Amino acid sequence: ARRFEAEGAANPLDVLKRVYGYSAFRGEQQAVIEHVVEGGDAVVLFPTGAGKSLCFQIPALCRRGVGIVVSPLIALMRDQVEALKQLGIRAAALNSSLTREEAIAVRRALASAALDLLYVTPERAVTDGFAEMIGDIDVALFAIDEAHCVSQWGHDFRPEYRGLDCLASRFPGVPRIALTATADPHTRDDIVERLALTRARVFTSSFDRPNIAYEIVERDQPRLQLLRFLRHFKDASGIVYCLSRAKVEDTAEWLNAQGIRALPYHAGMERALRDAHQDAFLKEEKLCLVATVAFGMGIDKPDVRYVAHLDLPGSVEAYYQETGRAGRDGLPSEVWMAYGMADVIQRRRMIDDGGAPEEIKRIERSKLNALLAICETAGCRRQAILAHFGEAHPGGCGHCDTCLKPVDTWDGTEAAIKALAAVYRTGERFGTGHVIDVLMGTVNEKTERFGHVDMPVFGAGKDLPARTWQSVFRQLLAASLITVDHTAFGALKLEPEARSVFRRERQVLFRKDRAASGRAARAQKS
Ligand code: ADP
Ligand code: ZN
Repeated sequence: ARRFEAEGAANPLDVLKRVYGYSAFRGEQQAVIEHVVEGGDAVVLFPTGAGKSLCFQIPALCRRGVGIVVSPLIALMRDQVEALKQLGIRAAALNSSLTREEAIAVRRALASAALDLLYVTPERAVTDGFAEMIGDIDVALFAIDEAHCVSQWGHDFRPEYRGLDCLASRFPGVPRIALTATADPHTRDDIVERLALTRARVFTSSFDRPNIAYEIVERDQPRLQLLRFLRHFKDASGIVYCLSRAKVEDTAEWLNAQGIRALPYHAGMERALRDAHQDAFLKEEKLCLVATVAFGMGIDKPDVRYVAHLDLPGSVEAYYQETGRAGRDGLPSEVWMAYGMADVIQRRRMIDDGGAPEEIKRIERSKLNALLAICETAGCRRQAILAHFGEAHPGGCGHCDTCLKPVDTWDGTEAAIKALAAVYRTGERFGTGHVIDVLMGTVNEKTERFGHVDMPVFGAGKDLPARTWQSVFRQLLAASLITVDHTAFGALKLEPEARSVFRRERQVLFRKDRAASGRAARAQKS
């Protein structure tokens, strides 16, 4: 908007210093900004916390006209506009939450070139009315934030994003910049293609967060396991994520009883209380915030020392975004997750019972499997996570539980065949608990009633403990050799690939579960 020229801030670096008060650009920021200031299109794939906002805000301030920012969440828009106003930037949002008068005021400011940045929802950005409204004024650029929403592979698909390619045809002279923290190859290709950005320059930065240590453990006594993990963070703040509001409340209460200062946060709480807890978390140095995923978007607390998950997130993207809230200040931080078969079943149910079309459910299932594969890997976690985002890492990071305490593997081909046979022979109609009963030769009402006690497979798995069978089924699921069918009460079913195991064309390696709890990292370091 070239507004800061008069104040001597004509180029991006001056704007960075004078308007934002920062001394230097980070990473690729400068390259992106210069490219867009010169009128180029850009696709920016930087992880959370990398500083994507400046990549469009500064070009908008340096170029003539208003920068139009397409953003999916009205609540986030409001926060961003407020923050910009504090910096003396003339920002506004145009969305359905405005009163008639407010909307008229925004339009007027727009028409009289009195705005530097205008935030709009994608629904509005694609309307003819909006095109008309900005048809006669100078537009500095279009920024499409959270651009992964255009892709069904993204964790947050929004059909309205699909229409945004119209900006390219309607305003061919205006540079466009799409930004996201999701960078798996599918999503990236979708963004480039669906938003008509084939000629854009793509900027990526490594998604690795070297200061974060990863640990994923099998859940057996979740509360005690959590407590053992938290004991190492007596003087620090962090987040514990739970899936349900009730679990958030219970966990926070329990932690307080254990002498750990904890506050709950979820969308079902009264707004004032929720805001108070968020403020406390932002200000205090030794506070554990127990939250649902409702917490975190747009939160910028640099010294979050740990993030714990008591439940499995829905995808690798979600896991990475949530864990990515740790250690934004670059100092050593740890993330920890406890998970079990029950999570997998619950997540599957959420997908199956959700209202999404079958095509999307299929994608969600495969995304869940991708996360499971990371949970069950015997290799370096960091390598597995980065591979998911299309980034090569040599492995052996030395900073995750599997690197610090290498996991033994065992040839589980025979066990896999027994497990798959037990699923098949019982008619693919039963859940893990019952199938394990059959393998263990447990005589009970159910195994008797269905005549399973008379089958050859009954008791065929006595050589291994039930706990190992739990692990076997989790890993079979992670390897997509079986699936869980919720339309049939969580019954296990064989996937086509299972055939190659029966035929012994495929060797199955399992990781040996260990009674893991708490911090591999510290054990090794000391
Ligand atoms: P993202 O959108 O990529 O998650 P943000 O744009 O919210 O990240 O930026 C994260 C934080 O880093 C913000 O507090 C922002 O002000 C800060 N930041 C961004 N760029 C710089 C910089 N060059 N120097 C210092 N701080 C920066
Ligand atoms: Zn590692």
